[in-house]
Amino acid sequence: MKKYLPLGKFSFGMGDRFGHQGKAQLQACVMAAELGADFIPVWNKSHREHTFVGTEPSSLRAEADEAVKTLGWKKPYHVDADHIRLETVDRFIAPSDFFTLDVADSIGKPADQDAVSDFIEKHPELIGIISIPHIALPLEITMTEVKRVANKFLLAVQEAGRIYRHIAGIKGAENFVTEVSMDETDSPQTPHELLIILAAIADEGIPIQTIAPKFTGRFNKGVDYVGDLVQFEQEFNEDLAVIAFAINQYGLPSSLKLSVHSGSDKFSIYEPMRRALSKFDAGVHIKTAGTSWLEELIGLAEAGGDGLEIAKEIYAYSIAHVDEFCAPYASVIDIDKSRLPSAEDVNGWTSEQFVSALRHDSKNPQFNASLRQLLHVSFKVAAKFGDRYLSALKKHEAIIAKNVTGNLFERHMRPLLLGR
Ligand SMILES: [Zn+2]
Repeated sequence: MKKYLPLGKFSFGMGDRFGHQGKAQLQACVMAAELGADFIPVWNKSHREHTFVGTEPSSLRAEADEAVKTLGWKKPYHVDADHIRLETVDRFIAPSDFFTLDVADSIGKPADQDAVSDFIEKHPELIGIISIPHIALPLEITMTEVKRVANKFLLAVQEAGRIYRHIAGIKGAENFVTEVSMDETDSPQTPHELLIILAAIADEGIPIQTIAPKFTGRFNKGVDYVGDLVQFEQEFNEDLAVIAFAINQYGLPSSLKLSVHSGSDKFSIYEPMRRALSKFDAGVHIKTAGTSWLEELIGLAEAGGDGLEIAKEIYAYSIAHVDEFCAPYASVIDIDKSRLPSAEDVNGWTSEQFVSALRHDSKNPQFNASLRQLLHVSFKVAAKFGDRYLSALKKHEAIIAKNVTGNLFERHMRPLLLGR
């Protein structure tokens, strides 16, 4: 296996669309570390986010470096080129040291038939009964099934190989972490599909350290998990078992772990994940992004005055463009339009009403998951407000930072590693 930049056991991906919360986010890692939960901070931003906000990947590097310097963070940290492809990766190569290769678009497109035959010939160990430690029933995989899975995923893995080699050729293999993401696709990958995918990734020579499968259930933006928690826990355990097995079988990096692209705030899966991670002594990467943008809005609303005013204006603009903003996210939101208050109603709200509707506290009867999802996908509006929005972030920095830090630490890091 090639050289690679090793990634720590537990790592936490944080997105910061407007570039002002780096220190507040890192502060959550500092607080977790004080309690013995060591998360390596990873700042992530995708091509799509940079395009909507009008920023360059180098700005995220500058923000991460500054936060680390200011807080005196001595452990490693990374800057993740999130969900990049061959055609979008170039401007990310210099400032990033973590690359999430998004190959979901190639899933289901048939690979070259000779490559499929070669793969099957090279991997007789994948056919038949495979006993994997900690999986109750051995996997039973037929040749037809290996062929089906190879047809579905081999092209995507080859594409990951092309992007990986392009980056390694410029940056040097030892200088970055590689993640392969397959989460933005229609159907979840089963544990045995994951095993076949990892065999193919090893064949491509990719020193993969995190893999983001699509898990069972719905991962709607900014709200909790919707799905069968028992099934999730079983599959998550089986995925961990498959990964441990594949590391040995295919010589993949010993730091290889799952990456959970949470779409923010999948609180109810943290406890089953915590049980599974401790059972397998496994690490994990959690990726969040929009949750911090919503904390900015909460902080502004909580500040009252012009802060609350701008939060209301953002809501008014979002609801006026609800169909336009929701269309690109149709598969990852479930908004009940009848639950969305009118702009007029929201204009009459107090700080407390706005904060209660938006803050992710499902025990609060005022919490409104539809409003939260709409605002999650409406960060374009704040980008449109430009300097006015950024000035408000600066003016109300303290109250926003308290929300950003508290959210990551109390609702994410603590339940995931320390339990509630
Ligand atoms: Zn993702």
